[in-house]
Amino acid sequence: MTLEIPYVNIAGQHAALKSDLLEAVGSVIEGGQFILGEAVAEFERRFAELCGVRFAVGVNSGTDALIIALRALGIGPGDEVITAPNSFVATASAIALAGARPVFVDVRDDYNLDPDLIESAVTSNTKAILPVHLTGRPADMDPILEVAGRHGLRVIEDAAQAVAAEYRGKRVGSLGDIGCFSLHPLKTLSACGDGGVLTTDDEALFERFGTMRNLGLKTRDNAVNWSGNSRLDSVQAAMLLVKMKYLEEWTEKRRSNAAYHQKALADLPGVRVPADKSFERAVYHAFVIQAEKRDELKAHLESRGIGSAVHYPVPIHLQDAASELGYGPGSFPATEDQAGKILSLPVYAELTGGDLEQISGAIEEFYRG
Ligand SMILES: *Cc1c(COP(=O)(O)O)cnc(C)c1O
Repeated sequence: MTLEIPYVNIAGQHAALKSDLLEAVGSVIEGGQFILGEAVAEFERRFAELCGVRFAVGVNSGTDALIIALRALGIGPGDEVITAPNSFVATASAIALAGARPVFVDVRDDYNLDPDLIESAVTSNTKAILPVHLTGRPADMDPILEVAGRHGLRVIEDAAQAVAAEYRGKRVGSLGDIGCFSLHPLKTLSACGDGGVLTTDDEALFERFGTMRNLGLKTRDNAVNWSGNSRLDSVQAAMLLVKMKYLEEWTEKRRSNAAYHQKALADLPGVRVPADKSFERAVYHAFVIQAEKRDELKAHLESRGIGSAVHYPVPIHLQDAASELGYGPGSFPATEDQAGKILSLPVYAELTGGDLEQISGAIEEFYRG
């Protein structure tokens, strides 16, 4: 079924950019440098600037960015990493693939790690905290960094959904030791395919990222560690450079669409809307409401031609892959309660004023009849 207002509209975003994107691809094809190279280096310079950090390294996905971040910090078998159970599965799978154990801590109403619960999850094996800036809202980093400091833990930010978000005036990706970003087509700054970025201010880590994305090769003929192939393609970097010029505009549009939803749905019984705090800049990768009768509301919206989505219906600790970790239903009450109520509404930059009215009108119709 094609919806009048789909949940996402990737083609719509690209329509206006098509000739610029094709020109960027054309120049890479003419140049003949397809992997890494000048386009990737230029993208990395701009991305570092965007995040307010010294270094950015392009890789092939957000998942690999997380795996490289963990491995670059020497995290592996026997180690524990604290993270949120309500994230996309990639956050936890990266920890497991690095050989470490994901240890979950429940979240707050902002869908991010509850800093008050972290300390009791720290053991002698804990090496890092991996907060996720879920939905594009920054996690409450000051208390997280404080706990990390007290216990000598490293902090890796999963900023896959939060490019250009800010916490107390600082961009995500610059708050912990390492920031990890995804350039997946569903993210606000996206490649036309897969991609990811690591950010850091630490020159030694930066150098490690550079070898680790490229088979551990320090020079052409000497690998300094066993590592995979996680390189970013030049065509993707060239297209990302085009799209980057629009990131601020898209982000502001998302924020104003979110503000519209917030106002339109504020007094509706049955619905809770997210509210950003004065000290943060939320970028609304997703606009997530908590709705009574969520599944019925979702079906109602679809009957009115409006797409919506659930991010994510099954918390990671209840997915099959996590069975070995020993968690079960009831382990994380806030996460599990939210999983039954959360619904992501369209919030992308291409929505028109009429679309926004239709969305809130349909939700109001559902609850008020
Ligand atoms: C998208 C996403 C990832 C993984 O990124 P990929 O580029 O798809 O590998 C990791 N964490 C979160 C929170 C994400 O939303």
